[in-house]
Amino acid sequence: MFELQGVSKHYGQVQALTGIDLNLPSARCTALIGQSGCGKSTLLKLLLGLELPTGGEVRFDGQVLVGEAWIGARQRIGYVPQEGGLFPHLSARDNVTLVARHLGWTPEACAARVEELAALVQLPKAALKRFPNQLSGGQRQRAALMRALLLDPAALLLDEPLGALDPMIRFDLQEDLAMIFSELDKTVVLVTHDLSEAAFLGQEVVLLNAGRVHQSGTIEDLLERPVDGFAERFVRAQRPHLGTGAAR
Ligand code: ADP
Ligand code: MG
Repeated sequence: MFELQGVSKHYGQVQALTGIDLNLPSARCTALIGQSGCGKSTLLKLLLGLELPTGGEVRFDGQVLVGEAWIGARQRIGYVPQEGGLFPHLSARDNVTLVARHLGWTPEACAARVEELAALVQLPKAALKRFPNQLSGGQRQRAALMRALLLDPAALLLDEPLGALDPMIRFDLQEDLAMIFSELDKTVVLVTHDLSEAAFLGQEVVLLNAGRVHQSGTIEDLLERPVDGFAERFVRAQRPHLGTGAAR
């Protein structure tokens, strides 16, 4: 569904991505993983056409995302930016329905879709009338997910959707996301720096390092057949310390 050929991106002097060749298949969840600053968010923005590549081509369903093609594709790709990106001056409900109202949906159609999505992501009704700063971190992410799903997109791009949440909320949302992904059968690209989250939610995994694809394949490939010392260290660094007790 997404194809990248020889893609590079630089911001002034900063080379964020170099020589990316990737094919992200339909109806699968691909986890983009790697250290902070390795280019994960930039790659997601290129998939969405929010940023244009400096070199190479990004295609969505065979089309390069410029001009008309971009506008059409934009409505078929749901996006949850890092930190959720909800507008602070709009209630959760108005954030969710913003694009629908812009497209001329009736209030009844908006209300019906909100009800459906709130049930899917399990956001309590009372939360819908609150502003983002009156919601808990988990509720904000659920509202951001509703907004991304509003137009029933073919693809869903999620940038560290659970990054800022405490462990129990995170665990609940991981379980809910797994259920939502399997129920909706969409093409999902999920950015995370957490290997266990990638393993739990992703079928494919792409490890980025310093703006390049370091390893891509299944999660088992990465865990059992790391391509080199870096991939091996990346995996080892995320092993749980529970029960090892270096300080005892
Ligand atoms: P990640 O999401 O993996 O943490 P990013 O894609 O956000 O990484 O950033 C990759 C590199 O590009 C970093 O060095 C970052 O500082 C730089 N970068 C990202 N966005 C911009 C921008 N708009 N202007 C300049 N540099 C940027
Ligand atoms: Mg990022």
